[in-house]
Amino acid sequence: MINLTFKKQKTISMKFSPLVQELIDSLKCLPGVGAKSAQRMALHLLEREREGGFRLAEVLERSLEHVGQCQECRTLTEEPVCGLCRSERRDSALLCVVETPADQIAMEQAGGFSGRYFVLTGHLSPIDGVGPDALGLDLLAEKVSRDQVQEVILATNPTVEGEATAHYISEMLQHLPVT
Ligand code: ZN
Repeated sequence: MINLTFKKQKTISMKFSPLVQELIDSLKCLPGVGAKSAQRMALHLLEREREGGFRLAEVLERSLEHVGQCQECRTLTEEPVCGLCRSERRDSALLCVVETPADQIAMEQAGGFSGRYFVLTGHLSPIDGVGPDALGLDLLAEKVSRDQVQEVILATNPTVEGEATAHYISEMLQHLPVT
């Protein structure tokens, strides 16, 4: 009888306060962050990194409010048109299609490409409900004919979805005078 009461009390006292638990649960929205990592991050911020935590909260809110997609290439930017699309030194006849803004940065860092980009922000994935609209493919087709693009480089990832997306795009652009 006494043992049972003790066990019950022990379970009740093992909870985080509601706000700490809310912070842990919120962190789980990050990719690759499960319950354990979320807990470690939350406790780290509260115990040792309050200054960094405040900065994180401030920049997070500001970027979520102001960062959108470039009207030309769909990469992430806080300006209507990104720096690369505004640059007159880039060759408009050459367009490289990538899956994510990170792929675009990697391509730029590798150097050697002087054209422009189009960022799909993903790949076709019918199971997840990602269709041509979500990737801005109508915008891509419009851009190719309007900017008189002569060569489109499909640099999607070498996955099944990435290759299916590249195939879809090449079919879509088939009627245009582009290689
Ligand atoms: Zn752009």
